[in-house]
Amino acid sequence: MHPRPSTMFKNRTIDWAAQSSGEGIYQCSHCGHALFSASHKFDSKTSFPSFWAHLEEHVQFHSLHTYGRERIQLLCQNCGQHLGHLFPDARTPSQVRYCINADSITLLLI
Ligand SMILES: [Zn+2]
Repeated sequence: MHPRPSTMFKNRTIDWAAQSSGEGIYQCSHCGHALFSASHKFDSKTSFPSFWAHLEEHVQFHSLHTYGRERIQLLCQNCGQHLGHLFPDARTPSQVRYCINADSITLLLI
């Protein structure tokens, strides 16, 4: 798969709030694997793209024990790219929040 022009900019930012919710698939920016549905977006009030669910088994969970606390690292199940971390969050329907690095995903409009 050839990278689309939008993926060639380093340190680009996603205008997260402006992107319409409910349509589109967020893909791994490295391999194009579908990871998240735009309908699962969550406005976390942080600068990080956030979701409250992932697509099928496409996101891999990896427990990290760093700085004396446990964190769950999120990886692309296909290529292993680091995506972000999973946090407990009482504000979401699933009680967890997927906190994602903007550079690790690209939006595919459907
Ligand atoms: Zn990937």
